[in-house]
Amino acid sequence: MTPNRQHKENTDLIRLGRNIKKSFGYVNIPPAEGSTVLFDNIEEMNETAKRRLEGDFFAFSYGTDAGPTHLAFFEAMNKLEGGAGTWAYGTGLAGCVIPVFAFTKSGDHVLVTDSVYGPTREFFEEIVAKYGVVVEFYDPLIGESIEELIRPNTTLIFLESPGTHTFEMQDVPAIAKVARSHGVVTMIDNTYATPLNFKPLEHGIDVVIHAATKYICGHADVLMSTVTCNEKTWPAVYAVSRILGQRASARDVYLGLRGLRTLKLRLDAVVKNTTTVVNWLEKRPEVDKILWPAHPNDPGYALFKRDFKGPSGLFGFTFKEGTTSDQIDRFVNALKIFGLGYSWGGFESLLIRSYGKRTVKQTPDMSRMVRVYVGLEDSDDLIADLEQAFAAMK
Ligand SMILES: *Cc1c(COP(=O)(O)O)cnc(C)c1O
Repeated sequence: MTPNRQHKENTDLIRLGRNIKKSFGYVNIPPAEGSTVLFDNIEEMNETAKRRLEGDFFAFSYGTDAGPTHLAFFEAMNKLEGGAGTWAYGTGLAGCVIPVFAFTKSGDHVLVTDSVYGPTREFFEEIVAKYGVVVEFYDPLIGESIEELIRPNTTLIFLESPGTHTFEMQDVPAIAKVARSHGVVTMIDNTYATPLNFKPLEHGIDVVIHAATKYICGHADVLMSTVTCNEKTWPAVYAVSRILGQRASARDVYLGLRGLRTLKLRLDAVVKNTTTVVNWLEKRPEVDKILWPAHPNDPGYALFKRDFKGPSGLFGFTFKEGTTSDQIDRFVNALKIFGLGYSWGGFESLLIRSYGKRTVKQTPDMSRMVRVYVGLEDSDDLIADLEQAFAAMK
């Protein structure tokens, strides 16, 4: 079903990607997985192969193509992001890296934000650089001055806003505008914003990535990414994905589509909880700075207000100067409700010590920083948990 302009996005979220004629009347199209597809005759087989190479999704010829469940999820993501084509991969990281092969060749120069997700940085440093592409990291706060870094052989700018450890908001429209004027492709890791709070394609970006592992699937039981492209970039991204044989399973895209139905509801609850927790933390004597772009004191607040419809439940805070590493470990170890584990965007609150590599500019001292994800528990219990963990530092 296509979104109706008279409907609010909330209503679209409930209806997108549904076609009960193709799902035997079931509300949700079941996970359809298979390998071999049978044809009636060789003419039909050849015709299907030809259409598939031309990018026709409905030309099923083999299990590595997008099946019916994939098509439903891709249609929903295209509508939410305003894209020409979406593909899904078996991890969040795969979505950050596979499309890069579509926009780089030996001799090219690429620009990557210094705040990028760590494993994406590793891919650029360890793999892309090995194939004769010059990888340059840039200050996430560079804005339109990125023009000074563009070379005749620059083909790609990679953005991520805000960073998920240090939370710098990037001036995405300014960077996209410069990139456009030089014919440079832009990719953004938009996981933090979800498909609801920021629509990069509307701001001039070419390729939008979500680690669907986080909010889209939302229940800590799926690894997946989506990559949504504009008209210009879609054929190349589709081709690279097909050639590399990469796609998410039908079970995972099924859970992605199901996750979209409650995304707004989950996000609203998380943001309400996060606001309560941040307001409480702000008054604590142990806390120095809070890094949450939705907070009026955050350095990224002006860009956040201008570009984003809302935040999510991930933020960081630094302990006061003089806090020892042992004390921070004691704080983390004392937590009973906040789980100690990677990831975020699920139903459960998590907290880890911040980490990450920087080569352009040092950020707030990460040795005194923790990253908090606020989930769906009662905020009174979350605050009580933090309070007893602060007490355990003494
Ligand atoms: C988690 C995450 C990824 C990678 O997702 P995985 O499913 O863990 O591979 C990519 N980008 C961001 C911003 C993330 O938070």
